[in-house]
Amino acid sequence: MVKELRINTSSGFQIISINERIEDIVEDTGIKKGIVNVFTPHATAAIIINENADPNIGTDLIDALERMVPLRAGYLHDRIDGNAAAHIKAAIIGPSQNIPIRHGELLLGTWQDIMLCEFDGPKIRKVIVTIISEEE
Ligand code: ZN
Repeated sequence: MVKELRINTSSGFQIISINERIEDIVEDTGIKKGIVNVFTPHATAAIIINENADPNIGTDLIDALERMVPLRAGYLHDRIDGNAAAHIKAAIIGPSQNIPIRHGELLLGTWQDIMLCEFDGPKIRKVIVTIISEEE
């Protein structure tokens, strides 16, 4: 089962929780046991699982990536569209995450949330949610 979400990002760098939307999709399927893959089909966005209770963690992550991958630091791709740093950050974080489903719920830890990382916004981002049932 595959569903597609569209997320409107509102700034250049942003971390947006999509946890509830993923939980709702999983719940609607009625699947009790399996895996959900959350994938964003973009070269300058990524998916993370981390704490959202303290939003400073998202800000710290953006700041840390900014220090690791400063904007316009002589990258070759900047000659094309000026967003090489966004591509590098997205490549470091990665485009997808897999989460186990047990008893119809995501097996996330207490402090884990699924989030979309925007590195080159604002844009309309797609998130593809694929649920694989392990039920016999
Ligand atoms: Zn580019």
